[in-house]
Amino acid sequence: MASSTTSINGQKVRFGQGLRNDICAELSELGSAKALVLSTPQQVDMAMELATTIGDRAAGVFTRATMHTPVDVTEEAVEHAQSVQADSIVSIGGGSTIGLGKAIALRTGLPQIAVPTTYAGSEATPILGQTEGGIKTTLTDPKVLPRVILYDPELVASLPPAMTVTSALNAMAHAAEALYAKDRTEQTTELAIDGLKAFATGLPKVIEQPGDLTARAETQKGAWACGTVLGLVGMALHHKLCHTLGGSFNLPHAETHAIVLPHAIAYNAQDVPELLAPISKVLGGTNPGQALWSFAEQMGAPMALKDLGLAEADLDRATEIALKNPYWNPRPITADGLRVLLQNAWAGNAPSD
Ligand code: NAD
Repeated sequence: MASSTTSINGQKVRFGQGLRNDICAELSELGSAKALVLSTPQQVDMAMELATTIGDRAAGVFTRATMHTPVDVTEEAVEHAQSVQADSIVSIGGGSTIGLGKAIALRTGLPQIAVPTTYAGSEATPILGQTEGGIKTTLTDPKVLPRVILYDPELVASLPPAMTVTSALNAMAHAAEALYAKDRTEQTTELAIDGLKAFATGLPKVIEQPGDLTARAETQKGAWACGTVLGLVGMALHHKLCHTLGGSFNLPHAETHAIVLPHAIAYNAQDVPELLAPISKVLGGTNPGQALWSFAEQMGAPMALKDLGLAEADLDRATEIALKNPYWNPRPITADGLRVLLQNAWAGNAPSD
């Protein structure tokens, strides 16, 4: 399989099978002699394998990365990095592990190499979400952008089918909202459409054959395109709603994105159908929300928030919280409209037209 390298926002981005084994060349280029490898507890094996590849240039392995980047874990990791005199960070994992790498970089200035194993796209953004005292805040700072990304399709091949689908829809959500972003440009729209196309063709293949590395590579190119647009333009209703549901009701990140996306897009398509038309063009049909809903259903995605443990009685409160901090959206957000949207997403109904 051919490998390729691209560069945007000062990041070096490489795609290719087995690229994780090239990690030492990247460390040399960064001038790093002691790299701290990060992972979640669930991916210790991957982290240990990478540390073995790095050999005596590995300063150690820190395996306590946690969803939503809790500040206490970051402080522990910073202390660890300093105690082993790490001069770079290598994050192997999804958004949680890459988030920890960014949080360490913010506090220490250490350069990071990201080796993504999901499609969430955090590696391509200068955005960091952190949690303290149960409250998640988000900042944007060029200091947190990893210097290098190594996309190795063998690493996403181990993603279980359910996570493959939800993570892909999480990535597609960045692209879908980029299509109507207030600060969109021709370049971001083009990247968003490229990302959507990559998943529209690649995802059905990896669902059928999880070890199809050519299709996995295609989905990783999609993840990069979708993550890059997330870093370049502002998001709206869909991302804010998922933030509310995740933060206030402790719902899982990628699954929530997968379920809410068709409904949020159907809501906004009523006011900006022409901007969202690329979605139906890529996925088929004439209605972008319906197209996403059918695609998600065909891919075996979870379809109902009730299946994630959200109670119907919570929908009024979720509507209230989501309305509390107003933000820009292409269609005005009304309490009634939002409540209907949430009811449909909760029950697993098709989105309202
Ligand atoms: P994750 O990193 O939390 O991973 C979920 C679980 O899957 C973990 O247990 C992980 O170890 C495991 N896993 C990951 N890859 C695997 C693989 N290939 N094989 C087997 N198991 C694997 O999930 P995520 O959806 O990638 O990231 C979610 C987090 O990232 C959230 O906190 C979200 O807010 C953040 N995020 C941030 C940005 C940003 O730009 N700042 C963008 C997207 C997501």
